[in-house]
Amino acid sequence: MPRFHATIVAAILLLPIIPSATHAEKNLVRPPGTTRYQPMVARLKSMLAYDHAHGAGRMGLSSIGMSVKGRSLWMVTLRDPSVTSEQTKKVFYLCRQHGHEPASTEAALSFAAKLVKAGADDPLADTLKHVTVYIVPMANPDGSEKFLRHNARDVDLNRDWLKRTQPETRAIYKTVFRLHPDLMTDQHELYPSDSRGDFTETVGPLGRAMPQVVDACMGTQQIVQLSMASEGFHTRSCVIDDGHPARLAHRYENVKGGVPTILFETNRSNGGGRSVAARAEAHERFMTVILRDLAGERDQLLSEAEARGFTIPSALAPQVPAVAGEEQLPASDETLAAPAPTMGDEGEREGP
Ligand SMILES: [Zn+2]
Repeated sequence: MPRFHATIVAAILLLPIIPSATHAEKNLVRPPGTTRYQPMVARLKSMLAYDHAHGAGRMGLSSIGMSVKGRSLWMVTLRDPSVTSEQTKKVFYLCRQHGHEPASTEAALSFAAKLVKAGADDPLADTLKHVTVYIVPMANPDGSEKFLRHNARDVDLNRDWLKRTQPETRAIYKTVFRLHPDLMTDQHELYPSDSRGDFTETVGPLGRAMPQVVDACMGTQQIVQLSMASEGFHTRSCVIDDGHPARLAHRYENVKGGVPTILFETNRSNGGGRSVAARAEAHERFMTVILRDLAGERDQLLSEAEARGFTIPSALAPQVPAVAGEEQLPASDETLAAPAPTMGDEGEREGP
């Protein structure tokens, strides 16, 4: 074979292994020590046994549906048995739609265990008098078992919220619809190569978010950013106003479902390797602030931040683009310098 033919053949053969973003994602390696599906179920059942043995009666565990491969989608409920869920607000934490993003599962297990084990005089137990907590710690168990982003039919669940073609998406959608929580979160992690820091993201009015959800989301984002910053977790607040189709959970619920929903993304690399434990710590801190804020502890969260010597910066307000179609205008120095508010990992590009 002439040399140039051989070169062309070699180039064609090599094409499929040129790492596209998708391949890079699929080739991520499961970090050692992260909790797999069966051990997760075992931990949840052991929390339930602890709850029964100690008489607190706070925890419920139910399957809200099945994955493609027949794994139950487990939901933890945490409540104070002295009040009914109708007497409280409700928060719904959605974790791990993408199987190769393990931190939110680890955070959810630690967070749930603390709520189950909190003593009666622990302020954390008191939050349950005001808020009923629902947690899906692993929304994509088949993808999680293979440490892949997609589910067993190779579908990205967080691009499936409009059509809901997958059993996982349908089960979660129906549960959120039935519960109609006061607040929902959707928790993710960025690509290892993505250098952006941790951020929250919601949809603004120009992105067609329902008016009643905009204020709720932005107020919550502000307190999350402030409280987390005062504890050393730098988190930006982003608001998307681009009007893309509502295929993602937080877009869908803010635009069509009427449930105020906040996306939370953590950075994996942090300049050379941020451990799952460190990411999970940020996720758990986020979940805790959300719960305490919803339980009516906003003023207390603010006082605690101030007591740590933290003052509220003027830049704390979520960064709302001034006009629709702003990106078509020449960028000013200010917009060039500002963090990109519309480029969330869960944006419309093929990101994590
Ligand atoms: Zn994700």
